[in-house]
Amino acid sequence: MGFITAQRIHNGHKWLPEGATLELADDGAVIAIHDTPNKDTIEYDGILAPGFVNAHCHLELSHMKGLVPEHTGLIPFLKTIPKHRNDYTDEQKKSARHNAYDELVQNGVVAVGDIANTTDTLDVRALGKLNYYTFVETIGFTEANAQRAFGFAVSTYETFAAQQGEWLKQAIIPHAPYSVSSPLFRLIDAHAGDVVISIHNQESEEENKFYTKKEGGVRDLLQSLGVDDSFFTPTGLSSLQSYLEWLSPSHPFIFVHNTYTRRQDVQFAHSRLKDVYWCLCPKANLYIENTLPDIDMFMSENANICIGTDSLASNHELSILSELTSIKERYPNISWKTLLTWGTRNGALALQMPDIGTIEPGKKPGIVKITGIDTASPEAKRLA
Ligand SMILES: [Zn+2]
Repeated sequence: MGFITAQRIHNGHKWLPEGATLELADDGAVIAIHDTPNKDTIEYDGILAPGFVNAHCHLELSHMKGLVPEHTGLIPFLKTIPKHRNDYTDEQKKSARHNAYDELVQNGVVAVGDIANTTDTLDVRALGKLNYYTFVETIGFTEANAQRAFGFAVSTYETFAAQQGEWLKQAIIPHAPYSVSSPLFRLIDAHAGDVVISIHNQESEEENKFYTKKEGGVRDLLQSLGVDDSFFTPTGLSSLQSYLEWLSPSHPFIFVHNTYTRRQDVQFAHSRLKDVYWCLCPKANLYIENTLPDIDMFMSENANICIGTDSLASNHELSILSELTSIKERYPNISWKTLLTWGTRNGALALQMPDIGTIEPGKKPGIVKITGIDTASPEAKRLA
């Protein structure tokens, strides 16, 4: 597609010097980065950056947009979703899922880490406009049923794995610390040693309370779902410091939400694991719990941060730029250099997708034009 430049270019890691010009092939591959424009260079207003990476989404829940009111807290939210997820026709689900996929593409997203409880998203995976890591989620807190819950996940996983496309990846993962028993954690762990483990982590303080003392809202949730938790012994530790005992450090990890993660938890994970990403979904946290993780603490621990939108059941839109803007509003000291790194390069590293996330010769990251970054509603548009 030729030579392009803009007022500023972020390469996924840092700002390039003024005048930097990208030479792109027709398929969007980066051929070279030049120091200055030439006579054929097209100059855009705004910022050029690599395509965004949405490290945590649930496209299969797209039809539940607006179902749960804001600020209910996580436990009421979790009670509502399973009750209503099948109150819709297949046609309604399909059109909502396709619209959500198109929304991601339009908002400059080039890759997604997508949670799946069903095989509903086979159709959007096949479209090939997004690099796709499907995380087949297992749920099963009743110890006796671990093998059955795992068997169901394996058959879902195998359906995804049979789909052809070099942009497709898949893994079996645990839903959350309070919804997966220790035997089920061990089965997931043993399924494939090198795949990414993505887990909803410390999204509510109730989760920590359950692990330390076996008290609080998680007990109510399990009771309402008819789950027998009599086998569970509280550990006296936070959830993260408990369940990591059941998972091998050979996996890359993506901890999602981390709204109630404390410094000791971050240090514990960093000391034990080799490849750790902390995925923030700020707009979903504000939607459900009306709070945000302690981002300053994560930064002071040099945590690798990446960004997700979560589902349309807990967000008004699927836009990584909008997630970054909502962080910037509340943490004005975090630079756009850092925020754009979280939304691009770090997400690609978290999803183990080395060919995207940064603008470098030989890669095909997708190029996004961003305007209005200092306004309340910046816009992203895919150029290549
Ligand atoms: Zn989620």
